[in-house]
Amino acid sequence: MLRNFIFSASDKVLETIKMETLFKLYNTCLIPSLIYACETWTLSKDEKQKINNIQLDILRRILKTPVSTPKQAIYAETGEIPLSLKIESRQLIYLWRLKNNIKNNYLTLASTPSNNKKSTIYNLTNLRTKYDIDENKYSITNVTMKQWKNITNQKILQTANDSYNKIAKEMSKTVNLSRTKSKIKKEQYLTKLKRSEASIIFKLRCRMINLKNNFKATNKDQKCPRCKKDTDNEQHLFGKCEKLLLLYEKHKIQNYDEIFEETISMDRLKQIATFIKDVKL
Ligand SMILES: [Zn+2]
Repeated sequence: MLRNFIFSASDKVLETIKMETLFKLYNTCLIPSLIYACETWTLSKDEKQKINNIQLDILRRILKTPVSTPKQAIYAETGEIPLSLKIESRQLIYLWRLKNNIKNNYLTLASTPSNNKKSTIYNLTNLRTKYDIDENKYSITNVTMKQWKNITNQKILQTANDSYNKIAKEMSKTVNLSRTKSKIKKEQYLTKLKRSEASIIFKLRCRMINLKNNFKATNKDQKCPRCKKDTDNEQHLFGKCEKLLLLYEKHKIQNYDEIFEETISMDRLKQIATFIKDVKL
C-alpha cells in the first residue's frame, strides 16, 4: 500500500513531505513489508535481482532521479545496501536463533546440514561460508545475539562497500564521488534539504543532471545550448559559460568541485540548487 503511495503520489504531494519522513517511511514500513518473513526464503539469482530492483525503484522515486541512474550511485549516496544483502543479514541472525534456542523445535534441523539446495538450512549454512564467518573464531553458540549481529553486519557492509569500490573509479557517473568517498554512506543533504533541492544535489554529484554530456546516447551534439561553444558538462556549467555570468555573480558560483567538499554547509547547497533552478535545468 505504502509502496503504491510513493509511486502514485504526485511530485506536488511528495514535495510537501520532508525527506527525513520519506526515508523513515522507507525504513520502517516499505522495506520491512517487502522482506517480511524472509528468514526462510531461498532466492534464485534472478529473484534477488528483482527484489533489488524494486528497492531501487523506490529510492529513485524518493530521489526524483531518472531510471537510468546507476544503482552504485544510489547506494553510495543513500548508504543503503542491496535488499538481497539485507535479507541475508536477517537470515544469518535467524541461523543464530536456530542454533541457540534449545526450546526451538528446529534445533535438530539446524545442527544437521541438509544437501537439498532449496532447503532453508542449506541456504543458511552456505551464507556463513559466503561471508567467510570463521567457525573457529566465532562459534555461533558462544557469542551473544548482539555480537553475532555485529559480526555479520560488518561482513555484509564490507561486501556492499567492496562492490561500490570495485567500479566507482571507472564508472562515469560515480567517478567524481569516488574521489572523496570510499564508502557508501548516507549524505546529510538527503535529509536536511527539501526534496527538489536534494534531488538536484544528488543529480549534480552523480552526473545525472540534465546536461547534454550526461546523456550521450540521446544527444549527438554535446555543445552547451547556451553559448554553443564548449561541451555541456558540469565543469562548464560551474563558472565557465559566458552566458551565465550574471547567475555566477548572483549565486557566487566558483567551481563544480565545491559540492564534494565535506565541510560545505546546507545553506550553500541550497544556493547551488537555486542556481540550477535559475539556469532552468
Ligand atoms: Zn555555455
